Amino acid sequence: MMASDRMTKKPASPARADAAGPAGKPSRDEAEAAIRTIIRWAGDDPDREGLLDTPARVIRAWEEFGAGYAQDPRDILQRTFEEIAGYDEMVVLRDIGFESHCEHHMLPIIGRAHVAYLPRNRVVGISKLARIVEAFAHRLQIQEKMTAEIADAIQEVLDPFGVAVVIDAEHHCMTTRGVRRKGVSMVTSRMLGAFRKDPTTRREFLAMIGHPHVSVG
Ligand SMILES: [Zn+2]
Repeated sequence: MMASDRMTKKPASPARADAAGPAGKPSRDEAEAAIRTIIRWAGDDPDREGLLDTPARVIRAWEEFGAGYAQDPRDILQRTFEEIAGYDEMVVLRDIGFESHCEHHMLPIIGRAHVAYLPRNRVVGISKLARIVEAFAHRLQIQEKMTAEIADAIQEVLDPFGVAVVIDAEHHCMTTRGVRRKGVSMVTSRMLGAFRKDPTTRREFLAMIGHPHVSVG
């Protein structure tokens, strides 16, 4: 391990099952009852054999889908490696697969994130960039907001010369219902610092991730 500073301890994982959550958080029983209500609303019988365990499974799945609420993405980045020995090239992690859920329909957003930064004097373990994406993805999201949140968190904690985030994702609320547009993906980007100001840096990044035509808003 290289020199590391400021390790941030994560709080112990929250007690599971029906322990009372944070103020106002419904109990597991209440959450499962809500799923039974949806099953009945859809027209089925939550007491038939195939559906008996469904509410419990759905709520367990949502524990995972909502796990990001218990994580502070800035904590994930706190353990940085300062000695970069003059390394001044961009650090790029591309094709970070993620699953999120849109805040409008609670349906999956499945996509890939590409994250880059230009270190000033701190670098962070590459796996941390993937964990940042996951911490923001495991919440109810809109893609534009998630893109900005990832970039802003990296900028704030690492203070690099610049940050670039591009997300390319398919929204199941578009592909499985409503207009049913198959194979349509949405691309969002957030460019900060050198990636915004310097077209050469930006082009280098976009070429590396195979998205040479992303426009910068
Ligand atoms: Zn949606």
